[in-house]
Amino acid sequence: MSKPPEKSQQTADHLAYDAIVIGSGISGGWAAKELCEQGLKTLVLERGRNVEHNKDYPTATMDPWQFKHRGQMAREFLEENPLISKAAGFGEDTAHFFVKDKDHPYIQEKPFDWIRGYQVGGKSLTWGRACQRWSKYEFTNPERFGYGIAWPIGYDDVAPWYSHVEKFIGVCGNKDGIEAMPDGEFLPPFDMNCVQEVISKKISENYPDRHLVHARWAHLTKPDQLHLDQGRGKCQARNLCMRGCPFGGYFSSVSSTLPWAKRTGNLTIRPFSVVHSVIYDEKLGKATGVKVIDTNTKEVIEYKAKIIFMNASALNTNLILLNSTSARFPNGLGNDNGLLGKYVAFQNYRASVTASMDGFLDRYYFGRNPTELILANYRNLHRQETDYKGGFTTFMGAYRNQHPTEKPAGEIGGDYKDSLTEPGGWQVYMYLQGETIPKENNHVRLSKDQKDQWGIPLLITSVEYDDNDERMIQDFLTQSAEMLEKSGCKNIEKHENKQAPGLDIHEMGGVRMGKDPKTSLLNQWNQLHQCKNVFVTDGACMTSTGNQSPSILYMALTARAANYAVEEIRKGNL
Ligand SMILES: Cc1cc2nc3c(=O)[nH]c(=O)nc-3n(C[C@H](O)[C@H](O)[C@H](O)COP(=O)(O)OP(=O)(O)OC[C@H]3O[C@@H](n4cnc5c(N)ncnc54)[C@H](O)[C@@H]3O)c2cc1C
Repeated sequence: MSKPPEKSQQTADHLAYDAIVIGSGISGGWAAKELCEQGLKTLVLERGRNVEHNKDYPTATMDPWQFKHRGQMAREFLEENPLISKAAGFGEDTAHFFVKDKDHPYIQEKPFDWIRGYQVGGKSLTWGRACQRWSKYEFTNPERFGYGIAWPIGYDDVAPWYSHVEKFIGVCGNKDGIEAMPDGEFLPPFDMNCVQEVISKKISENYPDRHLVHARWAHLTKPDQLHLDQGRGKCQARNLCMRGCPFGGYFSSVSSTLPWAKRTGNLTIRPFSVVHSVIYDEKLGKATGVKVIDTNTKEVIEYKAKIIFMNASALNTNLILLNSTSARFPNGLGNDNGLLGKYVAFQNYRASVTASMDGFLDRYYFGRNPTELILANYRNLHRQETDYKGGFTTFMGAYRNQHPTEKPAGEIGGDYKDSLTEPGGWQVYMYLQGETIPKENNHVRLSKDQKDQWGIPLLITSVEYDDNDERMIQDFLTQSAEMLEKSGCKNIEKHENKQAPGLDIHEMGGVRMGKDPKTSLLNQWNQLHQCKNVFVTDGACMTSTGNQSPSILYMALTARAANYAVEEIRKGNL
């Protein structure tokens, strides 16, 4: 670790804004868009480098043979970066959008794979783009079935904001009328392939309450004018999304919300700016700004604003708040109840089932479909019916193997090469995305003696899977294998990967919303109960994890909170 930065603090009027947004990823982009559109002079602080749409996608149009290692990382890199190399989609074509292990240390009290992308755009550049809505049950069931506190809001509070977000980012999907996975404002879905169609039909025939349908994805299958106005175009089904899309075919804050905010003339983005802490003024009884360290010069700068949006991603938001100490809040901003950093949770990604399907060898599919099907949650929806709490969704795909069905002798020579010109048989997979129970002992806290290169305490992660998760895995494996068998699949194999939490990249909580300031940190508008001009709208705010991919909920909550904040400013309340 190097020495902490020199103190050459600046505070001046030109450092004052209406709003500060910490982080420029999925949720920060949305805060910037909404606040700028409403006329607020907004400063987005981003610790990483700048990334501009198209200009900074160096690998977007490269062919496999143009990569030095044909897409693999060199052994030396893998040895130096064992953690980040595990991330889904990480490779020679995408490595520049992930951090390197040694540059950003943290302390794993229990194994936790913290996957991060520190640049303008954050993880919105590399995310998987699955965008299902939560149902009303995900908001109510944790309290109803006794494994969580009540959310201060329900599905009806968020539904209009889901629509607002879906229309702007462009989400493809089908209106399926499924209770466990509400419909939204959809562009047309990609086609199901023939094997997916068969399995979907067979599951419906055998299990009336189970529906294998299109999942919902942030892809422009048929762009509306609003998307064209963003400078984005139709998804070309290249499935190279994580390199950055030159067509703007999927949603990222770099291709969508940030340039839109910029056009208002109200946005300033400051890259290379690590937020150290939020500044609290005891006399005023509110936050007045943030303390930032310039990562190039190590200069310490204080920016002021009327409101502050915390969008640094779940665990970094916890870190900043824990590090925001004052005489009034010695244990972190808003942390009167001592629960800041606690009830951190994640999603259960530990299991999958694979199989093959005979036949259909005269059938193929168009392009490289970047989407999958989903089996909406069918567990513990209306009543507690299993030996574990919570529900799960199942993602599903079917594709033709790149290798020949009948393997020729050896894996070398002309016959082998000829056989590779034909696609192989059909392969099928299903994988788990499960709800986990937020628990007080699953927490993050700050190291008392170890600091990073900016002088900021290192984060300690103390988070683990539990028996409830194990029981869910067994149920998923049994049920998924049975469904595939009833659908006519062969060679069914169950897999448990035993991965650590974090690798799901759906970490959340630590600054949870709730009705009661004694048991939660945030109110129904994502304001800190004890410091109303600080809004937390990234995954840190989550009261429970649900079973659906979470990021579109962060976007909806951010848009909702930002518009509320603007109203409150106009009324003179903030
Ligand atoms: C491979 C992959 C697949 C995924 N698939 C899906 C999916 O299909 N569906 C889904 O819902 N989610 C998915 N996710 C998760 C999704 O990316 C995150 O939930 C989402 O990006 C969180 O948004 P955010 O704004 O909180 O954080 P981010 O998008 O990570 O943005 C946070 C930003 O804050 C910056 N920052 C951090 N600390 C500071 C600081 N101290 N000062 C200043 N700036 C700071 C970071 O550099 C970053 O730019 C996936 C993620 C990955 C990596």
